[in-house]
Amino acid sequence: MTKPKVFITRRLPDEVVNPYREHLDIEMWPREEEPVGRQVFIERAQSSHGLMTMLTEDVDEQILSQSNNLSIVANMAVGYDNVDVKTAERLNIAVTNTPDVLTETTADLTFGLLMATARKMIEASQYIKDNKWENWSPLMLAGTDIHGKTIGIVGMGRIGEAVAKRAKGFGMNVLYYNRSRKPEAEETFGASYTDFEVLLEQADYVVCLTPLTDETKHMFNKDAFHRMKKDAFFINASRGATVDEEALYEAIIKKKIAGAGLDVFEQEPISSEHPLLSCPEVVCLPHIGSSTKETRYKMMRLSLDNLVHHFQGKPLITPVTSSTDNS
Ligand code: NAP
Repeated sequence: MTKPKVFITRRLPDEVVNPYREHLDIEMWPREEEPVGRQVFIERAQSSHGLMTMLTEDVDEQILSQSNNLSIVANMAVGYDNVDVKTAERLNIAVTNTPDVLTETTADLTFGLLMATARKMIEASQYIKDNKWENWSPLMLAGTDIHGKTIGIVGMGRIGEAVAKRAKGFGMNVLYYNRSRKPEAEETFGASYTDFEVLLEQADYVVCLTPLTDETKHMFNKDAFHRMKKDAFFINASRGATVDEEALYEAIIKKKIAGAGLDVFEQEPISSEHPLLSCPEVVCLPHIGSSTKETRYKMMRLSLDNLVHHFQGKPLITPVTSSTDNS
């Protein structure tokens, strides 16, 4: 029996991919660090039955509607703002993502980013490397406390709850805002539900963990930053476009907020000229929330397992449908 043709848009380790060749006729874009070009992606999508995509690919109407053989897109991310799910559904193309397997790893990074930002860890490391550490002084690289402070989690989903668990362990007071209430999180972490504006006004650390949707695009705008306390920090580990970066930059340089920790940006990679990169109060990471070897391997295998299930006629493990679609 001929195997279904699957195109993977990035070079992945052979030790992960090879076992799946028994079930799938797999072709990979040969480079690990460079995304597939749009034209090659269009051509491969047209000749494939399944795609395994990264968040760097725009799986839009053009790709979906021109690919007559395509019946599944397995996106290697929990976020699927890069996939036009509604069009896929209309064309009877299944979509899957990789929830759960990355939750704890992303929460580790998010809380670590909060700590690095509050305690100036990156700046302090650079201080030594730049040979500036000549003396001790009472307020040298003095940061802001984390224990006993209030964290405000916007998007209390899987990762939001895992961050709340860490915050509780650090003796923080937890506020959250979501469209729906989470009674379990309220009970387990003593989290208090507030509306968005109250959270912004009361939190010492505002942490964004919503998906990127029409509703959350630029949710953190000038008004949001102006509502925050002057000594509060903003942490973003969701998607860059939840933030109006110009408004964030203004808020930082006008001292409307104390600083920011950003794992994600509107344009990735961010330009080296971007004004946010010139702010010492801003800690920047290159979208590494789920990036541990263990978790990335789990994400790869979950995507490949979904492809195998699909072509064997078994239920998908982690399907995305318009009813699970957050937008
Ligand atoms: P999730 O379980 O679906 O949680 C998302 C939460 O956001 C839900 O509780 C949802 O609750 C809430 N939400 C949705 N729309 C909202 C809105 N308009 N206003 C307020 N809250 C809203 O997803 P997850 O697994 O925690 O992942 C969250 C996001 O993190 C992903 O979508 C992805 O973009 C991002 N992420 C980033 C990295 C990274 O590397 N930095 C890694 C993994 C994930 P309601 O529907 O009740 O509002």
